[in-house]
Amino acid sequence: MIKEGFNPMSELINSLHSSEANPIFLISFYTMAFLFGISVGSFLNVVILRLPRHESLIKRSSHCMTCGAKIRACDLIPVFSWLMLRGKCHSCGEKISPRYPIVESLNGILYVLTFFVLDLNADSIITCVLMSLLIVVAFMDWDTMEIDMIIVGIIFLLAVPSAFFTDRATLFHRIVGAFAISLPFYIIGEISRGFIKKKTGEDYRAIELGDTILMFAAGALLGTKAIIVSALIGIVVAAIIGLINKYVTGNSKFAFGPFLSIGIAIGSLWGNGIADWYINLLKGPAQQ
Ligand SMILES: [Zn+2]
Repeated sequence: MIKEGFNPMSELINSLHSSEANPIFLISFYTMAFLFGISVGSFLNVVILRLPRHESLIKRSSHCMTCGAKIRACDLIPVFSWLMLRGKCHSCGEKISPRYPIVESLNGILYVLTFFVLDLNADSIITCVLMSLLIVVAFMDWDTMEIDMIIVGIIFLLAVPSAFFTDRATLFHRIVGAFAISLPFYIIGEISRGFIKKKTGEDYRAIELGDTILMFAAGALLGTKAIIVSALIGIVVAAIIGLINKYVTGNSKFAFGPFLSIGIAIGSLWGNGIADWYINLLKGPAQQ
């Protein structure tokens, strides 16, 4: 079925959403995307653990953290090994954190979801990279209350291939998007800093600089509409979890980054669609 002017790349692009897409191709593609995703997820666990401690990301420790037993090669398979071992070290039986398979499968699921929503193209590949970086931002911020600027820098750099190879947003809306949320966040942060210092004597902001720079980078990547949707979702989820957290632990201070990451992940997949739907809603019933 080779057509005139056959181009394998353009045949492949948009092939996932085509009604003629071969079901066997689809199943194998999504399986491969998931398996690749959990393998990358395995590396993300290393990054989340070692980046805050400034340890080498390449040198892999192959010993149990409790008993020091060498981890067998067959126990290094993402997700599956953890399930086979029922979350315990093969030697000493010490619990292995479920966090490892959770990060791995989350990355796999997000890759599958990204290709399912955005199809197979430059945008979905860039978005998969973004998803992995957001996982690192979210878990590291959760652990350390710090957002790593190297990771945020890579998110910002993704805006370059995104501007060249995708029609996600115009250059104008990438510039506006960079400031649309980060600027209000910065202003709120600075104002709150004064209040907090007066009230408690401590020097911190209601919205930290890390969160602000994350929204700058993601805004440049996603454009105005999607970054506004991302921020709104992040703020709403954070407010709900924050209230629950305050009720349960009595502590009102918590990491904002994980919730902004959830917002950006949703915004990168459906942000433009949600924004258009909302704008149409405000316009009221169609005139024609
Ligand atoms: Zn052990």
